[in-house]
Amino acid sequence: MLETIILLGAPGSGKGTIAEELTNVTEYIHVSTGDMLREAVKAEHEVGLKAKKYMDEGELVPDDVIMEIVRERLDRGPDEAHYMFDGFPRTIEQAQLLDAVLTRDGRGRVAHVFLLEVPEEVVVDRLEGRRVCRGCGAVYHVRNIPPEKEGVCDECGGELYQRKDDDKNTVLNRLDVFRKQAEELINYYDGQGVLRRIDALDREKTVQAILAVLNDSTETHDQD
Ligand code: AMP
Repeated sequence: MLETIILLGAPGSGKGTIAEELTNVTEYIHVSTGDMLREAVKAEHEVGLKAKKYMDEGELVPDDVIMEIVRERLDRGPDEAHYMFDGFPRTIEQAQLLDAVLTRDGRGRVAHVFLLEVPEEVVVDRLEGRRVCRGCGAVYHVRNIPPEKEGVCDECGGELYQRKDDDKNTVLNRLDVFRKQAEELINYYDGQGVLRRIDALDREKTVQAILAVLNDSTETHDQD
């Protein structure tokens, strides 16, 4: 069975970083709706033009826009891929529509939803201090992961910038939006028996905890 997994968590809980680490050691294809939207904004595609105002305010982009890019991404394949979503679904409607798309594609249900739990003050500090390279997208933090030379990427020499939605007010709004939507989503996936709560303060331990669940479920499937 083709597996679909989801990384769920507040902005700044480390979904993107953990997803990248998991792609190095598993076969899942990482799909981040936030990354796809930022690319569409940069390229001035129609989707990007529709999404930009919501993103700049830290508000959610409408479900129909999100579902359009997710469907388009899945249709691009490959068909036999296992997908790992990060930052999607964000609403109960998106979760239900995802279920419908998975059924349409004969992919069954979502196998695991990993809820990355990090104290809110840590999340705020991570986001406010985050800097991203304009050139290669590498992620830094002004105190925790500083570049060798301030404002310059160690990898490619590109300029580091602060995402517009990482400024203090927008961060607080994004957290507020997350709190409002998360409970419903958590209940939805808990009800399906696929929610796994992960203490996500330490990156390496988080990756190991997720891999332990994935390995366990592979062994269970192998015995079936
Ligand atoms: P992220 O990089 O996941 O924090 O997403 C950045 C911004 O993109 C969010 O604050 C939203 O404005 C938008 N966004 C990303 N994914 C979604 C989604 N699944 N539903 C609605 N908006 C989204």
